[in-house]
Order: sequence, then structure tokens, then C-alpha cells
Amino acid sequence: MDDVAIAGAGPAGALAATILARAGLKVRLFERARFPRHKLCGDTLNPGALAVLRRHGEVLSLIERSDPIGGMLLTGPGGVRVRGEYGGGMAGRSITRSALDCWLLDRAIAAGASVEEQVAIRDVSMRDGRVGGVVATGRERRSLTHPARIVIAADGRRSAIAIGRGLSKQPARPRRWAIGGYFTGVSGMSAFGEMHVRQGYYIGVAPVPGGLSNVCLVATPGGHPLAQPAEMLLSHLRADSELAARFAGATAVSAPVMLGPLAVDATAAGKPGLLLAGDAAGFIDPMTGDGLRFALMGAELAAAVVREALGGTLSIDRAHLELAVRRRAAFRTKWRFNRTMRALVASPAGVIAAASVARALPSVFAQMIRYAGDCPERSSTDATDGTD
Ligand SMILES: Cc1cc2nc3c(=O)[nH]c(=O)nc-3n(C[C@H](O)[C@H](O)[C@H](O)COP(=O)(O)OP(=O)(O)OC[C@H]3O[C@@H](n4cnc5c(N)ncnc54)[C@H](O)[C@@H]3O)c2cc1C
Repeated sequence: MDDVAIAGAGPAGALAATILARAGLKVRLFERARFPRHKLCGDTLNPGALAVLRRHGEVLSLIERSDPIGGMLLTGPGGVRVRGEYGGGMAGRSITRSALDCWLLDRAIAAGASVEEQVAIRDVSMRDGRVGGVVATGRERRSLTHPARIVIAADGRRSAIAIGRGLSKQPARPRRWAIGGYFTGVSGMSAFGEMHVRQGYYIGVAPVPGGLSNVCLVATPGGHPLAQPAEMLLSHLRADSELAARFAGATAVSAPVMLGPLAVDATAAGKPGLLLAGDAAGFIDPMTGDGLRFALMGAELAAAVVREALGGTLSIDRAHLELAVRRRAAFRTKWRFNRTMRALVASPAGVIAAASVARALPSVFAQMIRYAGDCPERSSTDATDGTD
């Protein structure tokens, strides 16, 4: 029997597997896709996410395959422009998710975790009144049960385990969708991420290695306009006073991908024998660009609780309750900030009011960009340019 079965080999699952395998536990990761695989994302790791990765080993090889992000450019209605540097020599990184997730998975494998790709987890199995493994559909579409002493569900926003077991659900509101794609030939790109907030929607733009630009539109569509995602993305870019000229000579390099509704509310951090990590434990909104930091830190927290539960210092039956306490302590303030940002952007009046404040007090927004980026407190040993 495995010590730990993990559903999903995205950032949360891969980091949890790395930590636990290094601790000498028998870890098995189950991943529905075959890597490398694409994942719709803004492709930026903020300084806080990078700091989490640094806690678990060298990041030089990650730095080599990514580009620095020095801060964020925020624009709003009425010509508002705020450029917020992370400052103090701190930087995030931009890297495609297929590259980042492969890098993380390689570390899990090097740490000793077993990986089963193209195996979709459908549910958990029960043993002695608690979760005691996972039920999977294997490569030959056979149903298999894999026993494990404890299970981590890190299978993303639409977690089959968390939703199936009633631990999370998609709220009736807000119902926002994301459409994302890559372009070449976008003018005016810099080493900053960009967030263009408009009434009723926003557009994130980020440079990614290889001269590409990642573009994500997040909107609340009426009717069913998402039937034509490419047209919707292009029409928003062409109609935008800030972006139209910059995308005039741009070419989409692949068909855009869409997903939604985005928000997922979790009601618990697991149940006896089961812990949630990453987006499976809830997702607010991509606007602040810190989903990866939450996912990686959520993996750290889940891994710490697993070690204590399997080491006998914490009851397995209470591990999910302890995880909930630690997640609240670590994330509560930032969750509140992100919910406030989400509500502000959803309200046309809120966007106008925020634009007025940004015009009058740009330093407030520059500070908020630093906060959104989870810029860690600097120590004397911190690198100055995002490299080790
Ligand atoms: C439009 C958009 C833009 C974003 N931009 C950013 C950004 O720039 N920066 C940032 O920090 N965050 C961003 N985020 C958030 C970030 O993408 C997520 O928070 C992050 O991917 C969460 O990682 P995870 O490991 O929890 O889940 P995921 O990355 O979703 O990984 C889950 C894994 O589980 C696998 N899986 C799913 N179901 C099953 C199953 N049944 N069985 C087995 N495996 C399964 C999937 O194939 C996947 O590999 C963005 C999100 C969106 C929607």
C-alpha cells in the first residue's frame, strides 16, 4: 500500500509529492493528462510563489527557462495607468505552464514519487470509515482501486474528488469565464505583467519566453457568446483603446482555450483520510495572479499535515481539520483582499471609483501590486534579481 496517493500532478500535487517523497514516504501521483500538457493560465509566478519554490531546493534550472517579471502595469478606464514594481530587486518569473509543470513533476520523480499519467481519479475509496485510497479509470478504461494511508486531492478547480464528495462547488455567482491564447508580434511588451481592467471584464497580458505574449480575457458573458472564443478575444482586443494598436500586427499562434465558470468555493479542507490542496481547495479569481502561490503553499501545508498524521503526532481522522485551521491562518487576509478585488471589478461603479482613486493616488495601487505579488520580506541572503 502507498503512504500517500495524490490526485493531480499540477503545481500543488507535484510539490506535495516532492516534499513527501523526500521525507521518505511512499508517494503515488495520478495524473489524468500526459505531460507536457497545456494549462490555461497567465503564466506568471509572482515573487511569493518563487519564494515557496526556493524553500524546496534550487530554482536555477527554473530561472534558466523563464523570464523575469519586475512588477505589474495596471490600466483602467479614463486613461488610468499605474506601474507597480515589486521593488527591492525582487522579481517574479514568466514561464509557460507546460514548462513549469514539467519542471515541478521532474522534481517529484527525482525525489522518488511514482507517477501514473493518463489515469483519471474518479473518487476516493473508503476503508475503516475513512478515506483509504482512490478509485481511478486506468489507461485501458478499467476501474482500479489504489489503497493509500492518506489521500491528497490536487486535481484542480473542477476536482472530481472535492466536488464529488460535496467539499466544494461552483457558486451561482460570479460566473466568469476565461479565454486565453498566445500571440506573436504584440508591440510595447516589457518585463512587466499587465492587467487591463475594464467595466465588466479584464484582460491580462504577459510576456512569455520565446517572444510570445500570453493574453487572458476574463469576462461574465451574457447568453452563450463563448461559442466563439477566438472571436470574443479578438473583438475585445480590437475594441480596446490601450490594446488595439499594440495588437494590430499580432498573430495568434494557436486557437485560444477557454474555461469556466472560474470561481469554486470549498466548504472544508478535506474529510477523514483526505486533504485538499491547490485549486481543488477553492479558487477565487485569477485577477491578482497569485493562484500558483496559493497552490504551492497549500501543497506545503497539506504535506506538513500528512507528515504529522503518518508520523503519529496528529490523528489521521483530524488531519483535515488541522489543515483547515492552518489554511485559514495562512490565507485569510489575502482571500479577503482577492474577494474585494473581484467584487470591485465586477461592479461598473466600482471600476470607475477605483480608477478615480488610482488617478489621484497611484502610489496606493502600486502598493497593492506589491501586496498582490506576495513580495516576501527580504533577508540578507535573498537574491537581487530573481536568480539564485
Ligand atoms: C485565466 C487564468 C489565469 C491565471 N493566471 C495565473 C497567473 O498568471 N499566476 C498565477 O499564480 N496563477 C494564475 N492562475 C491560477 C493558476 O492557474 C492555478 O491556481 C493553478 O494552476 C493551481 O494549481 P493546481 O495544481 O491546484 O491545479 P492545476 O494546475 O489545475 O492542476 C491540476 C492537475 O490535475 C489533473 N487532473 C484534473 N482532474 C484529474 C483527475 N480526475 N484525475 C487525475 N488528474 C486530474 C489536471 O490534468 C492537472 O494536471 C490563473 C488561472 C486562470 C483560470
